[in-house]
Amino acid sequence: MNPLEILQKHFGYSSFRLEQEAIVRAVLAQRDTLVLMPTGGGKSLCYQVPALCFPGLTVVISPLIALMKNQVDALRLNGVHAAFLNSTQTPSEQSAVVDAARAGTLKLLYLAPESTFLKELPRYAVSLLAIDEAHCISHWGHDFRPEYLNLAQLRTLLPKVPVIALTATADRQTRKDIVDKLSLQNPAMFVSSFNRANIRYTVESKQQSGEKLLQFLRSRGDDSGVIYCMSRNSTEEIAAFLTRAGFEALPYHAGLDRTVRSRHQDQFLRDEVKIIVATIAFGMGIDKSNVRYVVHMDLPKSIEGYYQETGRAGRDGLDSEALLFYSYGDVTKLKRLAHVPDNEAQTEIAYNKLDQMAAYGDLRSCRRRYLLQYFDEPAPAHCGNCDVCLAEHEQIDATILSQKVLSAVSRLQGRFGAGYVIDFLRGSQATRIQEFHKKLPTYGIGADVSKNDWHDVIRELIAQGYLAKADGQYPLLQLTDRSDDVLRRATTVLWRRPLARAVEHEPATVEEAAPAYDTSLFQQLKDLRRRLAAADNVPAYIVLSDATLQ
Ligand code: ADP
Ligand code: MG
Repeated sequence: MNPLEILQKHFGYSSFRLEQEAIVRAVLAQRDTLVLMPTGGGKSLCYQVPALCFPGLTVVISPLIALMKNQVDALRLNGVHAAFLNSTQTPSEQSAVVDAARAGTLKLLYLAPESTFLKELPRYAVSLLAIDEAHCISHWGHDFRPEYLNLAQLRTLLPKVPVIALTATADRQTRKDIVDKLSLQNPAMFVSSFNRANIRYTVESKQQSGEKLLQFLRSRGDDSGVIYCMSRNSTEEIAAFLTRAGFEALPYHAGLDRTVRSRHQDQFLRDEVKIIVATIAFGMGIDKSNVRYVVHMDLPKSIEGYYQETGRAGRDGLDSEALLFYSYGDVTKLKRLAHVPDNEAQTEIAYNKLDQMAAYGDLRSCRRRYLLQYFDEPAPAHCGNCDVCLAEHEQIDATILSQKVLSAVSRLQGRFGAGYVIDFLRGSQATRIQEFHKKLPTYGIGADVSKNDWHDVIRELIAQGYLAKADGQYPLLQLTDRSDDVLRRATTVLWRRPLARAVEHEPATVEEAAPAYDTSLFQQLKDLRRRLAAADNVPAYIVLSDATLQ
């Protein structure tokens, strides 16, 4: 049978979706393959269909034991001989699976990455290895699982077997890491569009988020939705708060008794309860098509996580909404939690991811574009379906302003942060501005623009990819591959400035200004400085000389 016949006969679908067909073809040609496809895109069929074409066994690595069972049950209903092997089974169940694998009747075998059975695989006729949720192998990903590092040995154990790695979430570094760690040979790469056009992205300030949440839910009527919270406690508190307000809502988190947890999940999946209030423990692999909204009460730790969680809305393609309650206070709080003692590199990665998430909250240009660019996907400047695009705007041609910034960065050789660059542009007399910099022709060319506006322009240039912040402790501004387009005037930079700010910032209070945590003073000052710079018309209670920060 050819792949299409298999799709129709065993899975009951009439045609392949998007890139599934090309992926299946690459796998059947025994190429190593890397598939990036958004959640709900249909990754499973990319290895399930080939599994039925190949003569031998397809081994699927999947991180969650609970998901394995769902997948295997679904396959069996379709008449596919599939099984899983894990610690929840009795010895006799386990040996029945091993016997079927040995006899060659089993087509798909699901294993956890920590399975001791991996070492036995060379004794079986394995045709294909499928690594699901492959981003878990990378420190760069947002969901690193040490047991995934086990999988690096598979290449040595099974040198001739093609590998297909699949994930819904991987930035450039994570992709590279997947290819390296799994030793994929000249892999065929399939990157589907990540755009979820039917999801509207909105950010609201976190002030009075409870009241705002009630308003939002009232406007959604009888719709189903997921409300994500940072802590287990707050899922229970918010579920209770909503229940008191007359909504049906259940909490879900890993600390709940297993039976309670799965009962709540089932009630939500069966539409008996409309709202589930959950930690991020909820959702991986859940296939509910009519989730109409996903709300984040607290800031997620990374764009990848946020995108994956919001991606659970609108799988049926109908209009849906992703609402984030944002406060810079969350960034400080999360940084405190993300601080890994004695591991500066890991801490730095976590901080960067948080900064990128905060930038999303602060954003004044199209949110969809920012998200898509995060995944290296080009996108038009305005999507028309996020709060920024929908707000009223004045459009400013920021090309000249942009050129000034970029030429200053170029003159300063990418060795300074935003504060210094702005002082340099404004012709500041501050003593920290080096004397020979004051002699450069670019010095003082931006004296007519306020510091706040320069910060906005810089933020926008970063969001649009014309400027980058260097990785590392000090966020130095640097040119990108695309800066030249602006400097040569090959492109215009349009800057849509909201007439009414989409995000009202809370006033920076003295309390917030001095968070009690033990990262370096430098980090605290940097955060405070960012926060003040991000907020318009906010009375600043603390005056910092820029020199403190450089
Ligand atoms: P992913 O792993 O990418 O999140 P799944 O493999 O779980 O997505 O598929 C998501 C949903 O899409 C499933 O309900 C699946 O049956 C459905 N699906 C996948 N491919 C097709 C197709 N070619 N035609 C119709 N439905 C499909
Ligand atoms: Mg999947």
